[in-house]
Amino acid sequence: MYKNMAGSAHRLAPPEIAVKAEPDDERVWVPQADRVWFRPLMLNTLQGQWCNLLRVRRSGVLSRHLHPNPVHGYVIKGRWHYREHDWIAETGSYVFEPPGEIHTLLVPEDCSEMITFFNITGSMVYLDENNKHVGYEDVFTKIDMCRAHYESVGLGADYVDQFVR
Ligand code: FE
Repeated sequence: MYKNMAGSAHRLAPPEIAVKAEPDDERVWVPQADRVWFRPLMLNTLQGQWCNLLRVRRSGVLSRHLHPNPVHGYVIKGRWHYREHDWIAETGSYVFEPPGEIHTLLVPEDCSEMITFFNITGSMVYLDENNKHVGYEDVFTKIDMCRAHYESVGLGADYVDQFVR
């Protein structure tokens, strides 16, 4: 709890979050697609931003998408790359994705699992090969997915509340 200079303990900012990022309970991972999950860490409804781990246990194309806002990533395990770029994000890599980027996420065949921390502002806009809009995600769709999943696995829809700011 934040203490002001007088030492009193009214809360002047939302409470901190400190959690084990890779959870012991498998149910905390929210399924997103075939063998793709995310683990919410912080869901910021005031600034339209969120932090999560993305876990992928298959190879090939994951998504083609546009970021209207910046994205920061840190690879915890495995490797991946964007078709449009010649670099490979390896375990331990930091990645900055500038606003306006359109790219296609690929996991190589020799990678059985990748886990990456992403800090995403705004939205993910999903595109097909012709850049036609086929879907989007933002902090609110992420919260909705978490609520539905946590309810279905017995953690309760409000399990997600601890990550919401
Ligand atoms: Fe991206």
